[in-house]
Amino acid sequence: MTRPRPLLALNWKMNKTPSEARAWAADLAAALTPGGAELAVLAPAIDLPVLAGELPAGVALGGQDVSRHEAGAYTGEISAEMLRDVGATCVIVGHSERREYHAETDAVVAAKARQAQAFGLVPIVCVGESLDVRERGEQVNFTLDQLRGSTEGVGENLIVAYEPVWAIGTGRTATAKDAEEMAAAIRGALAGLYTAGAQSFRILYGGSVKPDNIASICAQPNVNGALVGGASLKVADVVAMNDAL
Ligand code: PGA
Repeated sequence: MTRPRPLLALNWKMNKTPSEARAWAADLAAALTPGGAELAVLAPAIDLPVLAGELPAGVALGGQDVSRHEAGAYTGEISAEMLRDVGATCVIVGHSERREYHAETDAVVAAKARQAQAFGLVPIVCVGESLDVRERGEQVNFTLDQLRGSTEGVGENLIVAYEPVWAIGTGRTATAKDAEEMAAAIRGALAGLYTAGAQSFRILYGGSVKPDNIASICAQPNVNGALVGGASLKVADVVAMNDAL
């Protein structure tokens, strides 16, 4: 069976104004060669309408967070319907920065994922252990528990991103072997939770992915792409990562 194209999911975090987003999209359109990856830009919500009009054809658009509520008196929140309306097709839920700085629990993450699916968005559910958990050797149990909690009642049309917290923005990347070990465990757990075949799930690795390590990580049999933070900001890095896949 030929492997599906890997997904290169670009998480800008809180970077780029709408004007900067417009310039980035124009640069990408000029520089992008048809490479090996599917691309999705996960941008601040305020950048999405600009990107929708500027991104090269075939590059998907997504949010970085979504409200667990449908609509109403939730000042500052962005609904799944709003994301869909500006052309998003996916959204990150449960990023470790949301879990840490906004106290998002697994139950909240699952509610957000359900809400995303209710409006046709594919949730990219993030899971992953902190350094102390890894040092105790408990990373697999911890991450699978988090996965089960974060997918409670969530349909099978989801993407899972394994992002060990100690590897995010630290320059310390998990080895390809670490990424594969966890991706395989996640795939096994998903096969137990859903009726869809294990191979139908897309599992990404995230944490200090960059042009020089993306190929070896994405070559692992259970890794179907990467969620990239820092290296998503420069078009040259994105083009290099796409070319490496
Ligand atoms: P990083 O971030 O690539 O800068 O480590 C990844 C992420 O947090 O999604």
